[in-house]
Amino acid sequence: MASVVIPLAKPEITEADELAVLQVLQSGILSGGPVVPAFEEAMAHYCGVPYAVAMNSGTSALHCAVKALGIAAPQEVITTPFSFIASANCLLMEQAVPVFVDIDSTYNIDCDQIDAAITRHTTAILAVDVFGRCADWTAITTLADRHGLTMVEDACEALGAQHGERKAGAWGDISCVAFYPNKQITTGEGGMLLTSDEALAHTARSLSNQGRDEDDDWFTHRRLGYNYRMTEMQAALGLSQCRRIDDIFRRRAQVAAWYQECFAGCDWLHLPAPDQRSWFVYVVRLCDEMTGEDRDRIMKALRAEQIECRAYFTPIHLQPFYRHEFGYKPGDFPITEHVADRTIALPFFTTMTQQQVRCVAETLQRIGARPMSHSAPHP
Ligand SMILES: *Cc1c(COP(=O)(O)O)cnc(C)c1O
Repeated sequence: MASVVIPLAKPEITEADELAVLQVLQSGILSGGPVVPAFEEAMAHYCGVPYAVAMNSGTSALHCAVKALGIAAPQEVITTPFSFIASANCLLMEQAVPVFVDIDSTYNIDCDQIDAAITRHTTAILAVDVFGRCADWTAITTLADRHGLTMVEDACEALGAQHGERKAGAWGDISCVAFYPNKQITTGEGGMLLTSDEALAHTARSLSNQGRDEDDDWFTHRRLGYNYRMTEMQAALGLSQCRRIDDIFRRRAQVAAWYQECFAGCDWLHLPAPDQRSWFVYVVRLCDEMTGEDRDRIMKALRAEQIECRAYFTPIHLQPFYRHEFGYKPGDFPITEHVADRTIALPFFTTMTQQQVRCVAETLQRIGARPMSHSAPHP
């Protein structure tokens, strides 16, 4: 029987989404029209902040955040090595120095280790809400207040998540969300910068729009800017998805709940914490006795059974150019490396069926139950 690949991620595109994009195409206004501001307003309202600036990617939003906040060389910014590369690269784009602090059991930055990493050059904390789970923003806010530091929130994986009174995207002096096709909602490529500070919003908008100020004419450029603008088609897709955002979160939580059910009692897997509002990916972690080689062997076997999976994440400090530039080596951030060696992101998307979840879970349990390097070989 030829089995069908279960993809790692898949965007849900409804008829309403298609119609929304088609309407923009038919209007002839593909950039600089009314849909981008409408999407910005919807996202600002959803995240509970007054200002939102749409961008052509999450990385662009992070770059504008760093630049608008005036973060530059030789300043240091405390951040996590357990993330997608963009959360540290955005600092390098402005020649600021990422200072990594290891993670804790939530996979987010370990706030108890931040104090020790602060020097007289430290200017900001850039924390990531990993896998849709907010960092401990209460602790980070306390630390930032005490040391006079700026906060940048990379909420690119956490749209819809909540910490205390606020949603993800509302904790940083500037926060960023993203809309790549594997995110909770998508615009194909896209991102958004969120802030409560009007001046920062203006600067960020100008940076994303070739350095123009809002009432400048087309050929007046007040600062070094970029073209990070979102198109009207992207915004139409995002706005259309935004209209059913609660339904999207509900169904993603259902998919996660099916996984939790299937894996209950599986003693060699650590499951993600169930108390999550916003699910970005579904990442399991092999028990401590298993190794990175076990993980890689399991992933290979999953792929052989048409189940896509990925090691989430390769630690940033071990990326080739970070090793080369900064001299990082294995052992520098042991918790991050221990986790990164053992994680597997399983197929996870809004339209995933219970049958698909069962298929993935059963296959993984069958594969993982085979003897691994940690256990004695069968007689
Ligand atoms: C997705 C993501 C981004 C942004 O990625 P883009 O592809 O540029 O939209 C940034 N940080 C993290 C942690 C992410 O997961």
